[in-house]
Amino acid sequence: MTSARDHLAAARAQVREQSAHDTAERLREEPGTVVLDVRERDEYEQGFIPGALHIPRGNLETRIERSVLDRDAPIVVYCASGVRSVYAAKTLSELGYTDVVSMAGGFAAWKENGHRWSVPRTLTNAQLERYSRHVLIPEVGEEGQLRLLDSKVLLIGAGGLGSPAALYLAAAGVGTLGVIDADVVDTSNLQRQILHTVDRLGQPKVDSAEVAIKGLNPDVNVVKYTERLTSENVLDVITGYDVIVDGTDNFPTRYLLNDASLVAGIPVVHGSIYQFEGSVTVYKPHDGPCYRCQFPEPPPPELAPSCAEGGVLGVLPGVVGTLQATEAVKLLLGIGEPLVGRQLRYDALSMEFVELRMHRDPDCPVCSKDPSEIEFIDYEQFCALPARAAATQEAVA
Ligand SMILES: [Zn+2]
Repeated sequence: MTSARDHLAAARAQVREQSAHDTAERLREEPGTVVLDVRERDEYEQGFIPGALHIPRGNLETRIERSVLDRDAPIVVYCASGVRSVYAAKTLSELGYTDVVSMAGGFAAWKENGHRWSVPRTLTNAQLERYSRHVLIPEVGEEGQLRLLDSKVLLIGAGGLGSPAALYLAAAGVGTLGVIDADVVDTSNLQRQILHTVDRLGQPKVDSAEVAIKGLNPDVNVVKYTERLTSENVLDVITGYDVIVDGTDNFPTRYLLNDASLVAGIPVVHGSIYQFEGSVTVYKPHDGPCYRCQFPEPPPPELAPSCAEGGVLGVLPGVVGTLQATEAVKLLLGIGEPLVGRQLRYDALSMEFVELRMHRDPDCPVCSKDPSEIEFIDYEQFCALPARAAATQEAVA
């Protein structure tokens, strides 16, 4: 039988080691080097090497491939004293990583040599429990959850689309939710606007939304705007938000928001619904088409039916608003492929999703201009319906 000491000696013989001093030097010279901390969570929380990737030794085999895709990436592994990192480095070599070293003396030697270290910002135990299903996904993880908690999303409208979007974004732990809506809760809203309840009839929708959001997640800071967006207030309202979820049902707001978001540089997750059909897309300023690339000007008011005439299946905004919340979370986390330049259309009756490509118009009356030249227009208030196929679009499978 081999002793633990022999076992370590055998592992050490197969692994390259370098001192804390040489590691610090190397990180200065080769900033792309992956620094991998394999200690337990409670050790990591006491302090770590800035920029280190933290994967506890016990999770190494299951998580490293999703975090470090390049098998030839230079990796420096460290633990507390330089023992566990030897075993971790050996494991990485066995997994096919070709350029792995273990830092001799571990984090203790790093600190003793006076090198820079930080204390990580971490979720509280209550937050770890609440967001555990996010933390378990490598693409989100604790870091992503902290990012969501630092994020600010503005919801235009606390109605059919704003309701599911607000609830899911609150549940996801988006730290600040702005809600702008000038209306009060009406009985006819309750068929689809799930933020609101019978006992809040007659209250401003923003107040009702706050009660629902806080009831679901008290961590969320709710910023209320009981007003309509106008050319006067639009920049003051939207500036500072990371993403805007547009659930508006009228053309003037849609155009105003488009133009202002280009000036402020904020992506807009756009949704619209009508009867059994809905659509979702992401307008990312100057990185894809804007609303006016498709529809340069609103149609004359007399050609647009009123919202009251339109009608909508109560479940439909649940689907579309939830898709908008999904896109907002992806944008906040910087993961996946957002619906930039793509419009997703949903038909509840046939239960079909169709994707349309949208192209940026180089002569767009707004996004082709320098943002400083964009002027805001207050169009006459009237209802907006989802856009029908336009010349700038082509269907894809
Ligand atoms: Zn445009």
